[in-house]
Amino acid sequence: MVGAFTPHAHAGHVPGRVVAQHRDGYEVVTDDGELRAKASGRLFHEAGNAEHPAVGDWVALSLDLVEHTATIHAVLPRRTAFVRRAADSVQTLQVIAANVDVAFVVTSLNADLNPRRIERYLAAAWQSGARPVVVLTKSDLANDPQGEATAIAALAPGCPVLVVSARQGHGLDALLAQMAQGETGVLIGSSGVGKSTLVNTFLGEDRMATHAIREADGQGRHTTSHRSLVLLPGGSLILDTPGIREVGLMDAEEGLSVVFDDIEHLIETCKFNDCRHDGEPGCAVRGALNSGALDPARWANFLKLSAELAAVEAKAERLAKDAERRRLAGLQKAYRANKKDARGGD
Ligand code: GDP
Ligand code: ZN
Repeated sequence: MVGAFTPHAHAGHVPGRVVAQHRDGYEVVTDDGELRAKASGRLFHEAGNAEHPAVGDWVALSLDLVEHTATIHAVLPRRTAFVRRAADSVQTLQVIAANVDVAFVVTSLNADLNPRRIERYLAAAWQSGARPVVVLTKSDLANDPQGEATAIAALAPGCPVLVVSARQGHGLDALLAQMAQGETGVLIGSSGVGKSTLVNTFLGEDRMATHAIREADGQGRHTTSHRSLVLLPGGSLILDTPGIREVGLMDAEEGLSVVFDDIEHLIETCKFNDCRHDGEPGCAVRGALNSGALDPARWANFLKLSAELAAVEAKAERLAKDAERRRLAGLQKAYRANKKDARGGD
């Protein structure tokens, strides 16, 4: 972030982070507090959809401290991104949350614990580049929370599975401990699983009620009811956006493509289509690594995330095949039984 900001600092701009998006602009946090912001005309017209500022983005700003507003001149490279297709076009991708470090995949222990749904959310988290953590909520309503956690852990190898109860205040410290100071998390999962309750518990106040009060006194100007960033005890942050609940609906690999656009472009320009970027002649990736144009840490992260995504996809495929095999076995059994019946039994 510091290195990436240098050219913007030279241009006289200051850093900020987008914490909310409204129909008519953004809200950004800066050293001078929270300000309303608009994208500069140039950024607005020249940027592709995925380069428009999104919640969680680090941006370069010029400030108007008299008017208490800011102008966004550039979006800094994203470390991670949750994307979805725009509602109006299957071609267009929108970033719904950027620079998320930890994706808490939240599901409730009391209702329908759906393993396929958890896997979809996990895949979405891996695609985004964030570290997934499964959170099983409402443990106070479950008979055997640890047993269920063990079963879910088998679906999510290498991924922490936490059991919490906001009502009893159980497991909350373990959840907070998943993020280092300054890291950003999101809560993803179906409606009603207890995401808002968790955020409110951490805040120690009812943020929804706060909104109602703000709206009632007509100070709509300051509400961040659409998308916002919440500071937690311990200095980590929760990005709490309604849009992110749809992340499970996006297609595979789009997240990686948006975050690692530059690398995908390099790979396309390798001499051989099946280049393994491992010393082959005419490898654009090696060339960029050698010239310093591609950061080795970024390349390593891309390889790691691609491998994880491939593993998640292979697993989903295996599960689908197993289900199909079981379905066929069931059909064969029914067919045989049927034949037996037709022969009058024997
Ligand atoms: P969201 O849609 O995921 O944000 O879910 P909410 O936070 O609005 O919670 C849905 C319902 O679950 C509310 O009625 C909460 O009071 C209830 N709930 C949330 N956490 C717990 C919990 O730990 N235990 C129990 N028993 N109920 C909870
Ligand atoms: Zn190559």
